[in-house]
Parts: sequence; C-alpha cells; structure tokens
Amino acid sequence: MSLICTGTIGIDSIYTSTGKAEKVLGGSCTYFAAAASFHGPVRIVAAVGGDFGKAHAKVFDKFPNIDTAGLEMRKDSKTFAWGGEYSADMNSRKTLFTELGVLMEAPPKVPAAFADSETVFLANSHPGVQLDLLKQLPARRIAVADTMDLWINTAREPLVALLKQIDGLVLNYDEAELFTGKKNPVTAARHMLADHKNGKKGLKFVVVKKGEHGAIIVHRDGIAALPAYPAEKVIDPTGAGDTFAGGMMGYIAAKAKKRKGKDPFAFEHIQTAIAHGTVVASFNIESFSLSRLLKLKPADLKKRYAEFSKIVRV
Ligand code: AMP
Repeated sequence: MSLICTGTIGIDSIYTSTGKAEKVLGGSCTYFAAAASFHGPVRIVAAVGGDFGKAHAKVFDKFPNIDTAGLEMRKDSKTFAWGGEYSADMNSRKTLFTELGVLMEAPPKVPAAFADSETVFLANSHPGVQLDLLKQLPARRIAVADTMDLWINTAREPLVALLKQIDGLVLNYDEAELFTGKKNPVTAARHMLADHKNGKKGLKFVVVKKGEHGAIIVHRDGIAALPAYPAEKVIDPTGAGDTFAGGMMGYIAAKAKKRKGKDPFAFEHIQTAIAHGTVVASFNIESFSLSRLLKLKPADLKKRYAEFSKIVRV
C-alpha cells in the first residue's frame, strides 16, 4: 500500500556531549522517509528554500525507495532550520532555535501522481499544514501523525481538529502531559482516546514514546509496552522519534497487501510495527544526521530485529 509522508526537511545544528554537527540535513520528514524506505517505497511532500544545498538534496537519491516528486524547491524562501542541544545523558534536549522559513508559507501541494496514497504519515509540522495535506489525500486508509510541544503550545486548535481526522498519534510522554495536563502517560493517552471512543473517524491508538525507556501503546483494544533496544552507542538522538515512526509505518504499508480485508489498525499488528520502529531508531542514534542510515543494510536490520525479539520475549 503506497506510503506518503509530509513534514519538515530542514537544516539542523546539533550539539551533544559527544560532539557537534552544524548545518546538516535533518527534518522530521527526512528521518521518517529514510527509515521507512527500508520496508518499501515512500513518497515525500515537503518544501525547502533556495538555501537548501545540492549536497543535502542528493542524500535523498541515496535511498532508492524515496520518491521526491513532491519536494518543492522555493528559490526565494528559507529552508526550515532547527538547533538542539542534548543533556550529557542524552535523555533531554533543549531547542536552541527554530526558524520556520517555508513552514510559514502555503503548504506544499500533493502531486497528482501521489493522490492515490493509502498509508499516510504526517510527520512533525504545523498542524494546519498537516490538516491541509490530509485533505489532499482522499484515498487514505490509515493516517497517523506526530506532533510536538511547539505546536501544542502555539497551534492547539488545528491540532484538536487534526485528531478527529487521523487514526493514530505518536508523541513523547512530556508532550502527552502538555496536551492533556495528565502526568501519567497511560492516563494521558486514555484521555486523548476518550474523545474518539466509538466513531469510525478519529483516534484508534496513541503511541507514547519515552526515549531510552521505550514506548507504550494505548489502543481501543488494549494497552502494551515495548522497551527500547538497549543501545550502547548513542552519538546523536536526533530523529529517533521520526525513524521510529518510519519503521512502524513502513512495516504497516509493506504488510497492507497481505492483510487485505483485515483491520488495518489491529492492536497486535500495531505492536509488531512498533517493534520495527524501535529497531531502526536504534541504528539512527549511532551517528549524527543521516550518516548511520546511509550505511545501513537490510541484513543489519533483520539481524537486530531478531535479537530484539529475543530480548523482549518473556
Ligand atoms: P526527533 O528527534 O525525532 O524529535 O526529530 C528531530 C527532527 O525534527 C530534527 O531533524 C528537526 O529538524 C525536526 N524538528 C525540530 N523541531 C521541529 C518542529 N517544531 N516541527 C517539525 N520538525 C521539527
């Protein structure tokens, strides 16, 4: 089932206790697409400005499954840029700056050739932009979104509207707390689901990420928890959430044909998808920007997935 993603393609400057990487390729859509591409084709819809270097653009060509027909180059605009600094234990980060650039302009258009996309992921971006993109995708069968503190604080109204239109939400535990005012992540997720109890439309599951402590999934049919892969090498956690979502949605899209007629949001299916997300994210954090994913082989993923399956077996 065709997978499409929209979100930011940005220029990141990252500072960690292990070093720094300035003006490197980043963005929610970038990380998502790179991770999802290990499972099959992924279409991207995003915009960048005239300052987006050729070297950055070429990175996408190195992932053969990424279709960039929906990447708009706006000569007179500025690319989204973000700076972040991590705590010594890499468990928290502060945003140093966010330059919205093209995100302040009209959202990118979904190319006609992408209108038949059935699996949709709305990576982190302004919820108004996410809603607009969703409207351009009438063939969607499953739509999942990510969000973050900036949007919860500054664009709550379109975010609430978005939740009525999507099937799943992925967010960090502190963002779940910020959105609901509930400290406990399970309570927070339940609270979000409660607004969409029985309807065909609206949230069916919420995935709350807890960094090195893994993720919990609160689903209309149950609740589950999955640890993170116990990584020894953590160089740069940037993109962990986006690659997690990429592995999860890439798996869902890849299995859709075989599962025809079955519930696309089935609890156990989403659980397996999350395990795939966990594994690809564990590679991404081993180096800055996209460096590790650029070298990653499908066999490496398969091996670590098998190892992770043994780790979580009880
Ligand atoms: P993650 O570590 O998974 O949360 O993703 C970090 C990536 O998201 C970085 O590459 C940033 O360029 C991008 N990013 C940071 N802030 C935002 C934001 N407010 N909206 C969209 N993307 C963002």
